[in-house]
Amino acid sequence: EQFSDRMADYIALIHPEDRERVVRHYTRFVQEPVDEYEDEYRILGVDGMLRTVNVRARAERAANGRARSVSGILWDISEQIRQREALALMQERYRLATGAARVGVWIWNVAEREFEVDESLRTLFGLETHVNANDGRLRLGQDDFFMLIHPDDRPQHALYISSLLDTDTTEYFREFRIPLETGEVRDIQARGTIFRNAQGRIQRVAGVAWDATQLMEARRALEQKTADLVRMDERYRLATHAARVGAWVWNIADCNFEIDESMSAVFGFAARADEYASVRMITMQDFMALLHPDDRERLNQEGVAVLKSDTSEYFQEYRIRLASGEIRGIQSRGSVFRNDAGRAVRAAGVVWDATELLEARRALEHKTQELERANKELDDFSYTASHDLKEPLRGISNYAQYLQEDYATQMDEKGQSMLLKMREQTRRMETLIVELLNVARLSRAPFVIGHADLQATLAEILASLEFSIREGNVEIRIPRPLPGLRCDRVRVGELLRNLITNGLKYNDKPERWIEIGYDGPDSDPVFYVRDNGIGIRPEHRDRVFMLFQRLHTREAFGGGTGVGLTIAQKIAEMHGGRIWINSLPGIGTTFHFTLGKGATG
Ligand code: ADP
Repeated sequence: EQFSDRMADYIALIHPEDRERVVRHYTRFVQEPVDEYEDEYRILGVDGMLRTVNVRARAERAANGRARSVSGILWDISEQIRQREALALMQERYRLATGAARVGVWIWNVAEREFEVDESLRTLFGLETHVNANDGRLRLGQDDFFMLIHPDDRPQHALYISSLLDTDTTEYFREFRIPLETGEVRDIQARGTIFRNAQGRIQRVAGVAWDATQLMEARRALEQKTADLVRMDERYRLATHAARVGAWVWNIADCNFEIDESMSAVFGFAARADEYASVRMITMQDFMALLHPDDRERLNQEGVAVLKSDTSEYFQEYRIRLASGEIRGIQSRGSVFRNDAGRAVRAAGVVWDATELLEARRALEHKTQELERANKELDDFSYTASHDLKEPLRGISNYAQYLQEDYATQMDEKGQSMLLKMREQTRRMETLIVELLNVARLSRAPFVIGHADLQATLAEILASLEFSIREGNVEIRIPRPLPGLRCDRVRVGELLRNLITNGLKYNDKPERWIEIGYDGPDSDPVFYVRDNGIGIRPEHRDRVFMLFQRLHTREAFGGGTGVGLTIAQKIAEMHGGRIWINSLPGIGTTFHFTLGKGATG
């Protein structure tokens, strides 16, 4: 209330937020014996500008201590405040940025043998507990800094530093590790500028350093991966080389092939395509040019067929002709990759040198053909021979009959019995010749492949054997009906009939049975005819299939000519199948047979 009007005018200029505080402070200074007054507050000038002022004053006081007069100075410190705030803001920003990026600033004062790091680096280097200057910087002896570095990295670091002395470079770059007390190891990268004096001596090095742990981890992982890859590649190369197997990728759209080193070798290319790539690119034309002319058309058609189909499997055989004129047999196996539309886009696989294999197979095919021809000739021969033998034999038989009818009375008993034996022998010979003819006919008559209902065939056979079955009191077992199959129905019927007839014959048990069935899927059955008869000893299992081979005296077990199993075997083999025996002498016999893949469906 003591303030004059003009004083009130002045107070009105003070920023409303500061006003009350300033008045209270000043009033206390006027009333109480305080030596000095100092305050800082904002003034809203008549020109509309906001200013910060610093005010200092002294008072001359009356005896009661109250100020009689006050004099002082006031000055505008707005600019200083602005600078202070800007600096604080900058520092804050810097702190945030470096903290987040884990980047810090360092200075190495060479003359003072001292290191200076900022707050970020202090944290990064694990030096939080170290006392530091109030600007957040930490000064550290050069040797103390050196001891922070991982022992394994120190020699290298020292070497680098001493190398700087011999050069005039201004660039500084280091990588080292810092083990923390927590056991964690940090990877650090530091980059800086080297300041030298006129004589080239290093004065100062300053720069930034950052946490490169993640980077280095990634780099180490990458190095590991690369090393693994190199090792694997090496192994792959050794393996493929040893196995003489090469790999290829066929880019169908581009019509080219990527082939590896091993395949290059198989195909007679020079050792390496170029220094860096072990993969060689060849075009379809290159490939076609290598192909043996006789295989080109076929291979092309096969390739097109595979691509058009929906199979992913690929297998081809072909011959190539090397520049040297050498012919190589090749086998190639792979997979076809298709896009969503089912279109083949790529194929990849392996090839190998199959020259020996293909040659051996060709030789075998040749042998088989020869053998077949020889067999056919033999059949033809036995057919004509037995056919031609039949006539004179019939003559002998007839004459023997006339002899017996017209001249028996003129012979003594011995002569008559010899004549009887002669007629018997000729009859037997006739039977044998007929059987021989049957065997020879087997391969002469056309092979009629068609769908055959084998269960119906079996029923017919059993019906025709009904008398023998009933007479022998034989139980017929059929666990499940025989499947339908593509085969020569008449011949397979004969096969079955021969096995069943044998089953009926070669059994001396009071209770007899024969089981006819098959194992495996309908599409690939293994048929069997099983009996509980006399069995066949192991040493005879091959013999029984030979022509005219019997294991018994002529008349035992109802007699026979030893031809049935020969025919059975021939029929199975004509279909591409085979026949074999499982037997326990005294217990029973199982004949198994197949009719070959070619006959299924
Ligand atoms: P065959 O029956 O006319 O003698 P096969 O060729 O059919 O001629 O048989 C040859 C020989 O194999 C027979 O003589 C017989 O000794 C033996 N054999 C064939 N089938 C059986 C069988 N199911 N059990 C025991 N032995 C058999």
